[in-house]
Amino acid sequence: MALFVQKFGGSSVADPERIRAVADRVVATRRAGNDVVVVVSAMGKTTDDLVRLAHEVSSMPADREMDMLLTAGERISIALLCMAIIEAGEPAVSFTGDQAGILTDTTHTKAKILDVRADRLRDAIAAGSVAVVAGFQGVTTGDDITTLGRGGSDTTAVALAAALDADACEIYTDVTGVFSADPRVVSDARRQDRVSYDEMLEMAATGGRVLALRSVEFARNHAVRVHVRSSFTDEPGTWVVSDEELEVEGMEQAVISGVTHDTSEAKVTIARVPDRPGVAARTFRALADEAVNVDMIVQNVSTEGHTDISFTVPHSDLARTLKVMEGHVAELGAAGLTSDAGVGRVSIVGAGMRSNPGVAATMFETLAAEGINIEMISTSTIRVSCVVKESDVERAVVALHAAFGLGEG
Ligand code: ASP
Ligand code: MG
Repeated sequence: MALFVQKFGGSSVADPERIRAVADRVVATRRAGNDVVVVVSAMGKTTDDLVRLAHEVSSMPADREMDMLLTAGERISIALLCMAIIEAGEPAVSFTGDQAGILTDTTHTKAKILDVRADRLRDAIAAGSVAVVAGFQGVTTGDDITTLGRGGSDTTAVALAAALDADACEIYTDVTGVFSADPRVVSDARRQDRVSYDEMLEMAATGGRVLALRSVEFARNHAVRVHVRSSFTDEPGTWVVSDEELEVEGMEQAVISGVTHDTSEAKVTIARVPDRPGVAARTFRALADEAVNVDMIVQNVSTEGHTDISFTVPHSDLARTLKVMEGHVAELGAAGLTSDAGVGRVSIVGAGMRSNPGVAATMFETLAAEGINIEMISTSTIRVSCVVKESDVERAVVALHAAFGLGEG
């Protein structure tokens, strides 16, 4: 008997009709002779609505209370889905993250999973039930409720698949898999049959919205086979697997497997920082202590003993970043602090980049030909990213997708 973890995102459980459709799929998997653990997100835009509500009563909602609030969304979904599965004729039991044994650290609103003690789930499965678990939430050893960061239900699903040694973790979503670019931006974007963990990690980190970053890290570290597919069709989607598995299948490695973009980041610049040891250390320690996720960092060549430092942070962390940095700038003896929320990032990702020189040059030439100015550049062994004006982002994605021959046909 195989065990599947099936995760359904917010759009897949957006209304009662869709919840019944999810129930039918779960029941079909069960009746085909498999054990099933289901993970669900909050219905539709529930989480966004709750976040908005929080900001209507507070300019900076307390993190602990934000978690308490947001976990309510997934609680609604698990109960309704269980009711629908029972209605369809199979036993089902719902579990909050806490009840499912998802233990996290104490970093409210972006907690990390420390351990999964899934005994109650194992018991439920052994008793013949479908176990339905609330995604995106956990509990600290001090019994406080936490959330895993936006999109965290993916991580719940992968963590449960690892803990239960599932045969696969199926992520059901509103797209049919992982695409060579966002199909809403690039009309001839192609669905990929397979991508490696490393490629998926880079895509998730740079705006590929299909899987949450943490979930891919978790999948790679625990070798969980992930299948991203549509909850509206039966067609196979994209498998996210190890390099070894890709090699065994003799898949020819494309140079670039995807173009991603992200407009959710803001650029912050500290002007004329004294150029001496410890400055960057203090700056980024101060942000790390506030759990700000700093992404790209660029330090300029120093002139007359001073240098500019620019970095990007998520829009959602900008207010906190500016607050932390304001006092800090004076203390460092820097000239000032500026921020620009009107930037975006375009990235090209591909494992084949390792063995193909000239990929970055082609990217820069393509942007230049479009008259797009590059504000920041960063690279990894399998990715090149450029920060550009937000209004240039979509044009950049379309041009790069074509330049690297990623289109259909
Ligand atoms: N409901 C949460 C969110 O919107 C978690 C998730 O959907 O994965 O971010
Ligand atoms: Mg999601």
